[in-house]
Amino acid sequence: MATNRTFTMIKPDAVEANNIGSILGMMTEAGFRVVALKYTKLSEEQAGKFYDIHRARPFFGELVEFMSRGPIVAAILEKENAIEDFRKLIGATNPEQAEAGTIRKLYATSIGENAVHGSDSDENAKIEGDFFFSELERF
Ligand code: ATP
Ligand code: MG
Repeated sequence: MATNRTFTMIKPDAVEANNIGSILGMMTEAGFRVVALKYTKLSEEQAGKFYDIHRARPFFGELVEFMSRGPIVAAILEKENAIEDFRKLIGATNPEQAEAGTIRKLYATSIGENAVHGSDSDENAKIEGDFFFSELERF
């Protein structure tokens, strides 16, 4: 069953580039309601756990180093058809292939440093949201 919720992170590259406000603005302008929001930093261990599915990939070490090098913004967002609409809003993993007007086209600099995360399924949105937020932190 679709939950109408997704989970996102504004990644360290976009935080470093001072793009938190612009990116959150694109999300809310697109009709996503903020259910939970947090400014925090992942340890290498937490970043590895979050991206555990990619552990065997050649870029895993680089990914963990990147995701733990500075603070991130984590959020649960709500909208009808959240997963699919949010993936459309952020654009392709590689910004060179991302459509014009997408967050990654505007703010990502490479396939590794691609500004934002978006859940790929309802199941993962729940797992990822639970990784960062307690029930008391959701509104
Ligand atoms: P995310 O899960 O962060 O929303 P995605 O679903 O578009 O991204 P995934 O295939 O899940 O893409 O990859 C997770 C992350 O790993 C990417 O967002 C990117 O930061 C990094 N990554 C993926 N492929 C590569 C690659 N070929 N080289 C370097 N980093 C990569
Ligand atoms: Mg992914």
